[in-house]
Amino acid sequence: MTSFWFTQFSGFEDTETKTLQVALTQARDMCMRCANSLVYHPNGLPKRTVSLLSDAFDIRRDEREKIRNIQSKFLSFSSRMTKTTLTKATAENSSSSNELEHKAFVVSDNVWEIFIVSPSFFRKPSRVRALTLIHEYIHLLFPTGGHPGGEEVLFERSRMGIPYDDASRNAYCYENFADWLTSGQK
Ligand SMILES: [Zn+2]
Repeated sequence: MTSFWFTQFSGFEDTETKTLQVALTQARDMCMRCANSLVYHPNGLPKRTVSLLSDAFDIRRDEREKIRNIQSKFLSFSSRMTKTTLTKATAENSSSSNELEHKAFVVSDNVWEIFIVSPSFFRKPSRVRALTLIHEYIHLLFPTGGHPGGEEVLFERSRMGIPYDDASRNAYCYENFADWLTSGQK
């Protein structure tokens, strides 16, 4: 095992560990940008942020309690990940072959470990790897319930249409918000 901050890496080749360290750094930077974008200024939030909040989380510009809740999730990415183990998925530590078809997954009774599927995770572009870590981190915070409100595979930005109560616990909503916010697209 090697560490990055305090994150543990279990079962990886050295090159994979290095790739994961880069992905963690990129994910941390994305989360900081998201958290910063949700800081309330005297004249409110920027128009683009308001529109992204509405599309991803079904939140209106004046719903400050909800905005703070989403912001707190992005803010705690780093501290949570320092206590988390990233483990290379194998046929032995995966409960079903279905899990091995993903890029990464978590197990519902284990909230401090993310399983990384090789080679499918490492084959993805670096942005996707970082966004996948953000997605799995949200699963650690809400270990039961899968993707409340549904799984949305979007190929471009659009309104997700998941009500806030579900969206605020849905890993796809955070992943998409982070993707949209940091990609520079409108
Ligand atoms: Zn998921």
